[in-house]
Amino acid sequence: LPKRYQEATESVWVEYVALALKYKPLNLGQGFPDYPPPSYVTKALSDVANGDHLLNQYTRGFGHPRLVQALSKAYSQWIGRQIDPNNEILVTVGAYQSLYNAIYGHIDHGDEAIIIEPFYDCYYDMIKSAGGVVRAIPLKPTKSGIISSADWKLDPIEFEKLFNNKTKMLILNTPHNPLGKVFNLDELTMIADLCKKWNVLVIADEVYEHMVFEPNQHIRICTLPDMWERTLTIGSAGKTFSATGWKLGWTYGPNNLIRNMQLVHQNSVYTCATPLQEAAAIGFEYELSRFNESDSFFKSLAVELKDKRDFMATFLTQTGYQPVIPEAGYFMIADWSHLKDKVDLSSETDEYKDYRFTKYMTKNVSLQGIPPSAFYTKANKHLGENFVRYCYIKKDETLQKAADILNKWY
Ligand code: PMP
Ligand code: GLN
Repeated sequence: LPKRYQEATESVWVEYVALALKYKPLNLGQGFPDYPPPSYVTKALSDVANGDHLLNQYTRGFGHPRLVQALSKAYSQWIGRQIDPNNEILVTVGAYQSLYNAIYGHIDHGDEAIIIEPFYDCYYDMIKSAGGVVRAIPLKPTKSGIISSADWKLDPIEFEKLFNNKTKMLILNTPHNPLGKVFNLDELTMIADLCKKWNVLVIADEVYEHMVFEPNQHIRICTLPDMWERTLTIGSAGKTFSATGWKLGWTYGPNNLIRNMQLVHQNSVYTCATPLQEAAAIGFEYELSRFNESDSFFKSLAVELKDKRDFMATFLTQTGYQPVIPEAGYFMIADWSHLKDKVDLSSETDEYKDYRFTKYMTKNVSLQGIPPSAFYTKANKHLGENFVRYCYIKKDETLQKAADILNKWY
């Protein structure tokens, strides 16, 4: 194993997907819907595969022409600036590869990258394997009891201390996984001002952009004054169209930064699957034609998820958890520490309590969640230990089953 991977260990996904396959619990772990994507998207994919045969062959390396056109049309409208489809967009294998290209295309040995805890776990490993130095800072709850993800905040003084002349990059995830936090304008302005002051590049992971619950509003940091020049914004078809298995993502930003990502891309995957790109383009074209209407999938999905969120928050509260109510997305973290007398954590050997709790629940109660300490650096893993993350983009009937399991157990 090369040196750059010697510190790496099996990720929480590898471990928990295997656990789910082995014990077959009701799975609220890894985030994916257990109901179908909108039918026009799946129909588009089957029509494409059986239509013009050339759409089963290679396409343009940096993004299929019809898809980059559609992405340019959509995001130009949403950010209020004309995006050049050929030079300011890169299509990738999921948001994962966008993150990878952005990190490998910019981080050199010794460069520092700031990430906000809890963070989507791969940020850490990608920065480290690229030779970078991770500087992490936790969001912390500013109230107790049942609170909103908005109550988890950064300490601005501690945050400012992370910046220095080695800081190359900051990764910002809004709406946030696993908290469901939507960073507000004041928070984004504070972050943007420091990035401008220290000449730092922002990687904005916005894969949950269309799942924001009213009255919250998703603000794209690239739209703040003088931020376009230093921001790469990432999206995902898997999230946008509830089809996580498509593993199709993209980044948009200024040409000089996109170019750095293209260099990584052309020497790794070179080009993404053509039929998926054509089908995603059809999906975008259709959604753009009804964007502000109530039957727009981007609108209806958020409405549907808000009800599922409320249902989950209620049954978790009734069974002894303290949920943090998300403002967006499809994950909820909940404090399980009041349930500690109901679980035998000595039956598991993991170092962190949330790993022991989630494994105990998977094996003995048949309900799977994700241990949030996976989303912290070693120094701060204790901050995640009293929590579990559950995914609620599930059929109502699945959520009812989860409620029944917990009610019976509690
Ligand atoms: N970023 C975040 C915050 C995510 O939750 C996910 C989840 N899948 C990804 C990136 C990766 O997305 P994709 O499946 O498109 O690679
Ligand atoms: N983003 C999803 C989650 O957070 C999927 C994770 C994965 O497959 N690596 O659960």
